[in-house]
Amino acid sequence: LIGIDIGGTHVRVAAVARDGRVEHRLSMRTDPERGPQVVIANVIEQVLEILDASGRSADSELAIGVGVTGPVDVNTGVVTNPYTLTGWPPTDLLRPFGQRFPQATLAIDNDANVAAYGEWAVGAGKGSRRLAMVTIGTGIGAGFLIDGVVQRSSTGQHSEAGHQILDASGPPCYCGARGCWEVLASGTALNARLGGRSITSQEIEVQEIVRQTGLWIGLGLANLCAIFAPDTVVIGGGVGLHLDIMRDVIEENMRRQRVMVPVDVPVLAAQNGDDAGVIGAALMARDRQEGRSA
Ligand SMILES: [Zn+2]
Repeated sequence: LIGIDIGGTHVRVAAVARDGRVEHRLSMRTDPERGPQVVIANVIEQVLEILDASGRSADSELAIGVGVTGPVDVNTGVVTNPYTLTGWPPTDLLRPFGQRFPQATLAIDNDANVAAYGEWAVGAGKGSRRLAMVTIGTGIGAGFLIDGVVQRSSTGQHSEAGHQILDASGPPCYCGARGCWEVLASGTALNARLGGRSITSQEIEVQEIVRQTGLWIGLGLANLCAIFAPDTVVIGGGVGLHLDIMRDVIEENMRRQRVMVPVDVPVLAAQNGDDAGVIGAALMARDRQEGRSA
């Protein structure tokens, strides 16, 4: 299996065993301003390098999964994301891989969805029947799975939970709205408030910033719980790594906002770390190859 994770800053490529273990991995800067054709060509080079290291060829029976930042049509493979893939026109990400790797089964989805799929398959969401996984990093993305099937619109669009509005008079978001969850609670928002100080600092001011950010995270999660009624919430991305510091305030706010939902939903830290995207994408392609809907 090959997993590819195309983010706004880094591209990761990995050879993944069928049980989800990463066997080889490479990463490079995305530098999206070089344009989609150059970036795709470089990714294909990395895949060839990984195949070489694994003793396989481009003609092997592969399953190649791609997770990509931003809106993507999972049926056509076209990503439309001029925001974090700056300046890109709508780009077919699957066709070049299909041409270069003719025996491959291909799958593509938004990066938050593939990360959620990986956590359901081999991570903290294993066994969950209604999983909400939220990736809190540069932005906020979320994936929702019912019985292991990623929930998408009828035209294949992923959810945009990061752009739920928590404060309609809050700071502007690039999407055009104000006070989106992502503007208030992402790693970017947290880092801007910290201004270079460590999140683990004991300074009163830092603790207040952590508390405030945790409140926004908890409020957004409470909304997700009220609407989706998950049995498990998994948090990944950079903030997921610091979940222990924020867990109390997040859960306190979730409880306060969530009185109508009479279940205690566990909030768990993601287990696949930086490999979340490549693992999830590879396993999505594996399951498509085996005829299972993912
Ligand atoms: Zn927004």
